[in-house]
Amino acid sequence: MEGLLDLELGLPPRSAPGSAPVGDSGEGSEAVARQVVDRTGHSPAVAGRPQRTSLRGIVLHRIGDAIGAPPAEGRDVAGIITFFTTTPEGVATVTVEGSWESKLPLIEKWRTEGIPEKNRARAFVPYSFLIDPRGVVSQMLPLQAVGAHAYGYNQSGIGVAFIGDFRVDAPTPQQLDCGVAVCVAILRQHHLTPATVKLCGHDEVRSIPKQCPGLNYPLEEVRRRIIAAF
Ligand SMILES: [Zn+2]
Repeated sequence: MEGLLDLELGLPPRSAPGSAPVGDSGEGSEAVARQVVDRTGHSPAVAGRPQRTSLRGIVLHRIGDAIGAPPAEGRDVAGIITFFTTTPEGVATVTVEGSWESKLPLIEKWRTEGIPEKNRARAFVPYSFLIDPRGVVSQMLPLQAVGAHAYGYNQSGIGVAFIGDFRVDAPTPQQLDCGVAVCVAILRQHHLTPATVKLCGHDEVRSIPKQCPGLNYPLEEVRRRIIAAF
């Protein structure tokens, strides 16, 4: 599909058969995805998004609950994927007060009767990419689509969200590896470099900080790794 990220552009080269994989950090490294999962069809609202005309920034976010947190908003890893990727109705209820459980009847109602007009425009995942703790990269919006993730960077920025609550937990090594690869691939696919595109955490472009991506998110290290790829 047009507008899909070529993740290979940002990944280290494949190692020769029999030799140790590049960047092998031990167990689970083969779980690091080399392709994005195309979830850009998760909602009809995606097709109606305006087109971005420039790329000024890549904004890093956190989304979801901490490991072991009560499923208040259904924003554990499995919940996020379900909540944010399988039903546009579920996405549209994000700004509706209440727990995930309490929203289920509403989601069902909207599924059968349609999403009310005032909620319809918000019925899409606002981030271009979701990266789960296993390092699986889901692309939620075509590369050129305008998201709704960071005030001032929606028209000219791309939102990359890491699933987890980094006020409490830390991102996994696979998640960080893939996050760096995604950012490098975005830049290379646009024929741009970190010299002209701002790499920032959400709080750096917010007037009121909300710990996004969070104190446990190694923002400087991620930035350094992306810059080092150019
Ligand atoms: Zn954010």
